Amino acid sequence: MTEKIDRFFAERRPMTPCLVVDLDVIEENYRNLARLLPLARVFYAVKANPARDVVERLMRLGSSFDTASRGEIDLCLELGVEPARISFGNTIKKQRDIADAYAKGVRLFAFDSEAELEKLAAAAPGAKVFCRVLMTCSGADWPLSRKFGCSPEMAAHLMVRARALGLDAYGLSFHVGSQQTDLEQWDVAVKSVAGLFALLRERDVDLRMVNLGGGFPARYRADVPPLETYAQAVMAAVTRYFGNALPEIIIEPGRSLAGDAGVIRAEVVLIARKGFDEEKRWVYLDIGKFSGLAETMDESIKYRIRTPRDGGATGPVVLAGPTCDSADILYEKTDYHLPLDLEVGDVIEILATGAYTTSYSSVGFNGFPPLATYCI
Ligand SMILES: *Cc1c(COP(=O)(O)O)cnc(C)c1O
Repeated sequence: MTEKIDRFFAERRPMTPCLVVDLDVIEENYRNLARLLPLARVFYAVKANPARDVVERLMRLGSSFDTASRGEIDLCLELGVEPARISFGNTIKKQRDIADAYAKGVRLFAFDSEAELEKLAAAAPGAKVFCRVLMTCSGADWPLSRKFGCSPEMAAHLMVRARALGLDAYGLSFHVGSQQTDLEQWDVAVKSVAGLFALLRERDVDLRMVNLGGGFPARYRADVPPLETYAQAVMAAVTRYFGNALPEIIIEPGRSLAGDAGVIRAEVVLIARKGFDEEKRWVYLDIGKFSGLAETMDESIKYRIRTPRDGGATGPVVLAGPTCDSADILYEKTDYHLPLDLEVGDVIEILATGAYTTSYSSVGFNGFPPLATYCI
């Protein structure tokens, strides 16, 4: 939590719930990552926090952008990002959206299936394409497994096919899973991808790029290794398996750039017990799963919480949102303790919520407005 955010809350007293993003922290995170991985070209994963100010600040810093839809591409273009700095990284695209992106100058596309490759050949002739390889995502708090990527054997076949279709068979990508805490996963992934580079060279397809995806962490409740350790693990893997013949390297950070830069303010709406001898209090907030905290699904991401009464005695709580949906419980199994003197009307802070919050908030479920963002 930065002083700047503290001051903003104290002076502006914004209505809750809201997210405040400190753009200077995003800048610092970007510079840090760029310094630690100087060989990598950074494509910010826009979905993590698509606020215009966030995209604009990163654009000025020289970032490129990983986008998933026509909307994200248009957002970047409107803000002045050159099409050469945009990757259409979703493996699931409508052909007319591919054509639209191509017409606007985008030349870098992801795929993980034959049918998608055929769409690309038809709607983005000659474009650079990269195939996403399936990963297990074990060790990740927010896995992106199963839905994306294809087996290495299929990736090899598809890259040969890409060239036959007149596309530029540019490289391979993977994502080890978001909020990845097992550094070994990059070793496993880079090894697999380097093997495919060698295999494809034998088939006269010379790949030039490896896209290492995201997975770098934000700081939630559990400790995570410093970014330096991640950078070392990644570069060690790349040099181990590629030696001197280093390919172009792309990374697509989302969470690690935006996560720590944001704080959500929320209000305690109700504190209740479900029975006379129940110790656990239910604490209902004015924010829940549908207004930005979707990553509490399966209690996957465990945010740190600050209250104005921290320091005194605490007791166990269940934390829940305000909507009329019983799925709208944030933490029930995870051990959360809050001050015993917490009161209805108290304003609390949910830390490191700059990524995957506003972009996950519903437009108006139960009449609750989408999560407001202030970029400062
Ligand atoms: C979501 C996403 C990212 C960002 O991942 P983080 O773990 O938040 O850094 C990167 N690449 C792709 C393709 C994604 O879908």
